[in-house]
Amino acid sequence: MARINEHYQKLQAGYLFPEIARRVREFSAENPKARIIRLGIGDITLPLAPAVVQAIRETAAEMGTEAGVHGYGEDQGYGFLREAVREHDYAARGIDVAADEIFVSDGSKQDSGNIQEIFGSECRLLVTDPVYPVYVDTNVMAGRTGEADDRGRYGGISYLPATEENGFTPDPPDEHADLAYLCSPNNPTGAVASRENLTRWVAWAREHGAVILFDAAYDAFIQDPALPRSIYEIPGADECAIEMRSFSKRAGFTGVRCAYTVVPLKLTGETASGERVPLHGLWARRQATKFNEVPYVMQRAAVAVFTPEGRKQTGEQVTYYMENARRIREGLTASGFTVFAGEHAPYIWMRTPGGISSWDCFDQLLERAHVVGTPGSGFGPSGEGYFRISAFNSRENVEEAIERIGGAFGG
Ligand SMILES: *Cc1c(COP(=O)(O)O)cnc(C)c1O
Repeated sequence: MARINEHYQKLQAGYLFPEIARRVREFSAENPKARIIRLGIGDITLPLAPAVVQAIRETAAEMGTEAGVHGYGEDQGYGFLREAVREHDYAARGIDVAADEIFVSDGSKQDSGNIQEIFGSECRLLVTDPVYPVYVDTNVMAGRTGEADDRGRYGGISYLPATEENGFTPDPPDEHADLAYLCSPNNPTGAVASRENLTRWVAWAREHGAVILFDAAYDAFIQDPALPRSIYEIPGADECAIEMRSFSKRAGFTGVRCAYTVVPLKLTGETASGERVPLHGLWARRQATKFNEVPYVMQRAAVAVFTPEGRKQTGEQVTYYMENARRIREGLTASGFTVFAGEHAPYIWMRTPGGISSWDCFDQLLERAHVVGTPGSGFGPSGEGYFRISAFNSRENVEEAIERIGGAFGG
């Protein structure tokens, strides 16, 4: 009999989004006339930028010719895309990342989930709480944790609470860890790490010989040019950090699929006997064995994001969502809610009214305003008492949602 990987049975049921869907379905069945506005999941709503659509069209046509057909791609992604990333996302900001250090992929979800494979099973993990569930669940599957306790925290993981007191950007702890997942701008809290905070993290990682796994999926949403968009803006980070970025949110690629991960050539880990080994080679090997690269058409679509038209058009998309975020933040504040973030991320994090639970807040918003958001507790115990509102929707829907919430809760 084939034995299963029993670590999967430690996973808390994929509870959050199925449970949201169930409650919305039930409500809709009882209230068939209610027009529900979804500010729940983090998925883009605007159409693809014309420059991206044109690149897909042209490249599809190219693939239809004998001279232009492309089969399996180049390891780590096509040079044209890695060079464009190096130039526009790094060199243009004075950051020294080489094209060879960039690995193109089909998503940061995949990369942030797969990256743990190149580390030893005994590595001690650290995550902030609340947290993007992928970081934790993939380590559970790999057997790097114990069982979950009654609050949903797994043994073998250090959880660092992101709270109002620390501005939802906790400083590194005094304790040791080997791998630390950081996400800035953060999903779900919408908080963004300051340069000082990241500097403390880099110092901590270097002191502990730890590796920071830095998820910058939302970097394009940072409005203040003084805030760091890359961990590599912090001196020394190229010796202690891997960075993951995605075209998903910045350019509407959630259904197109293209992202990349930077593994600096200087970054090393250690063998049991204390030998230093570059992580770059391990990730290259992992990807070469398990991944056959992003379709040529989609890498051409991604490089179109860096053309002058592509930058302008995708920049306008980000501006559109950030204007939604501004209106949500101001609208909810006017209705008496205490809201955080949403200034450098497409998420607003709010305190539940009257200290009710995150799920009670979900039910009240649904029943009284027909608006769907995401309970903070679904992202970890420290999310209890908070609620996430996404800015990914049409202006019209956002306006109406704010108005309804104001009507139901304001005054
Ligand atoms: C949306 C998101 C990503 C991007 O995932 P893709 O697989 O590139 O679409 C990565 N990390 C976080 C925290 C996200 O919210």
